[in-house]
Amino acid sequence: MKIHAVDTYDIRFPTSLSLDGSDAMNPDPDYSAAYVVLRTGTEHEGHGFTFTIGRGNEVCRSAIEALTPLVIGQDISNLGAFAKRITHDSQTRWLGPEKGVIHLAAAAIINAAWDLAAKVAGKPVWQFLSDMSPDAIVDLVDWRYITDALTPAEAYEMLLEAVPGRDERTQHLLRHGYPAYTTSPGWLGYDDAKLTRLVREAVSDGYTQIKLKVGADLADDHRRFALARAVAGPGIRIAADANQRWDTAEAVEWMTALATYDPWWIEEPTSPDDVLGHADIRQALTTAGPGGGPIRVATGEHVANRVMFKQLLQANAVDFVQLDACRVGGVNENVAILLLAAKFGRPVCPHAGGVGLCELVQHLSMFDYVAVSGDLTDRTIEYVDHLHEHFVDPVIIDRAAYRAPRVPGFSARMKPESLVRYAFPEGEAWQQQP
Ligand SMILES: [Mg+2]
Repeated sequence: MKIHAVDTYDIRFPTSLSLDGSDAMNPDPDYSAAYVVLRTGTEHEGHGFTFTIGRGNEVCRSAIEALTPLVIGQDISNLGAFAKRITHDSQTRWLGPEKGVIHLAAAAIINAAWDLAAKVAGKPVWQFLSDMSPDAIVDLVDWRYITDALTPAEAYEMLLEAVPGRDERTQHLLRHGYPAYTTSPGWLGYDDAKLTRLVREAVSDGYTQIKLKVGADLADDHRRFALARAVAGPGIRIAADANQRWDTAEAVEWMTALATYDPWWIEEPTSPDDVLGHADIRQALTTAGPGGGPIRVATGEHVANRVMFKQLLQANAVDFVQLDACRVGGVNENVAILLLAAKFGRPVCPHAGGVGLCELVQHLSMFDYVAVSGDLTDRTIEYVDHLHEHFVDPVIIDRAAYRAPRVPGFSARMKPESLVRYAFPEGEAWQQQP
């Protein structure tokens, strides 16, 4: 199956009007997708995208277009080679390497190739991956720069060890789904009444973990956390997310001040590039929680690539690995990150929300459970209930769990009418803005 043509789209949703998605660093996002369709001249198409929050989405689209000469005429039968061809190209590599806009663009294309390959195989991506042999999975990964932490031989052994339980775990997934937590109550732009109502709804919907945005104003955080804790009760995990707002010392002070509300983790306390800063924060918060327990550290949605994740793990800087389906180089690099997390024994709790991130990332966590870590302990996928109506095969949440997708592909396809209406700037949704 060869790729004949590549179509790109700049799709934006005016979410800033409702303050959905608002946090301490991103007060008014317009959730957007630089969207790509790989055409094959057959009935099969590959759909993929990368996520941005508005301005600059056109730059991602241009970067995808800059990579299309590497894609046209390529076969998708070897997805390891396909991904490396895109991320190793000597000229476009100068723009990264493997970070920033060019890597977001690589993610969109590589994810679209996975969508296409899984459709041709007639399986959802999680199952397509989970049915691969340990050898084939090892071959998906670009091992350059990570063998000091994990070798292909070690990864092969880990994957081999997980083979006997694959069927049983697949059945478990099909019956019970994959645990989710919700960020919907916690956006910084919501007033106290909306926060209280949404926390109550989340608990009654069966969620055992929710997340609050913090970091703009400490007095506000005290009030909001106290409200959320009072409504949720002591048994619900409440994570906090600062979206990179703080320097190291400030992160420690701020979270120590909020410790009385028993935060489950602090997410993105500081710059995603600051490996040693995360290690210091984690160390300082080891006994900061109620009763001398830890406030855990999580990051990943802005971590550029597998090398940075490797260092965060090597430096004991994180308790939870929050990979993102579109930030790093697509499925292939996320397979590397799942393997690294399993080697270091850290649970992966992916970043989702945005537009379409829930749709994609569920496949990666389900593959992790079936074929890599084999474990659900402390693992949960972020869920946000926005914009799913624009997808042909949207996520289904059932009793606070992601139901396992059954439709072939990566659940990435947006409805044709949404691609028209939300095209920026010419779509009707934008023409109607004041
Ligand atoms: Mg976050």
